Amino acid sequence: MKSLLVFTDLDGTLLDHHSYSWAPANQALARIAERDIPLILSSSKTCSEILQLRRHLHNRHPFIVENGSAVYVPAGYFKRGAGEPIGEFESRFFATGRGKILEVLDSLRKSHGFSFRGFNDMTAEALAAATGLSREDARKANQRDCSEPIQWLDSDRALEVFREALASHGLNLLQGGRFQHVMGDTDKARGVAWLMQCYRNAWPDKDFVSIALGDSPNDRVMLETCDIPVVIKPARGEPLRLEDSNRVIYAEQPGPSGWQWAMDRLLEAYPG
Ligand SMILES: [Mg+2]
Repeated sequence: MKSLLVFTDLDGTLLDHHSYSWAPANQALARIAERDIPLILSSSKTCSEILQLRRHLHNRHPFIVENGSAVYVPAGYFKRGAGEPIGEFESRFFATGRGKILEVLDSLRKSHGFSFRGFNDMTAEALAAATGLSREDARKANQRDCSEPIQWLDSDRALEVFREALASHGLNLLQGGRFQHVMGDTDKARGVAWLMQCYRNAWPDKDFVSIALGDSPNDRVMLETCDIPVVIKPARGEPLRLEDSNRVIYAEQPGPSGWQWAMDRLLEAYPG
C-alpha cells in the first residue's frame, strides 16, 4: 500500500487568488485529515504568516517558508530530530539568513549610493501603507528568515549594477508582485526533497508517493521533484506546462476548486 505525502502552494492553489478562501477544497481537506496524510504547506509567505493559516486549517505537519528558504518541523515530529530547535519547532535553513542579506544591502548602499527602500528601512505605518496590509499583517510579513523585499527607487541602469553586485555575494533579485525580493540561491524543491528524505528515514517501511500542487513558475521545480505534479489553472495567464506530461494532472479550474477536483481523483486512486 502506498502512503501519500502532499506538498501544496498556497496563493492561487489551495487559496483563492482573490478571496484567499480554501472553502471549495474543504471536502478533500477533511478526507486528507481523516486519513492522516501529511499536508505540507509550501509558500513564499513567512513563517508567522503560514503559522496563522496553519492554525486555521488545523494542520500539524511541517511547512516550507519563503520559497524554500527554510523548513519548520514540529519538535518531535520525526523521532531523530530535524534541525535547530526554535520554540515548539525545529528549523532547517537552506539559504542566506536575513541578517547577512541586510549587511550586504547596507554595504552596497554605502559603496554605490544606490537608492532603494527595504522592509527593514520602513516604520510599521510605512510598511502597512506600502504593502496594503493591516499593521498586524504587515508585522507578520516583516518577520522574515531569509529574504528582504525592497522597492527600487533608482534608475534601471543602476538596477543592473545592483543585480551584479548582489550576485557576487551569492544573492539573487526576484521580481514579486509589488516588491523585488533579495534572497539567496534556493527554491521550493530543496525543502521538499529534504522533507521527503526525513519521512523515508523516519518510516522506512512505508512506500511514499509524493504529490505537489502549484500554479506559478516558482512552483515548477517543486512539481518536478514530486511523483505526481498537479498544475492548478492560474487566476491569470496560461497554466504551467511541464515536460514528461504523462504523470502531470492539469486541473481545469483555478485555486481551491481545482485543488478539490485533483485531490478527489488522487484519493480515489490511492485508497488508504
Ligand atoms: Mg501560487
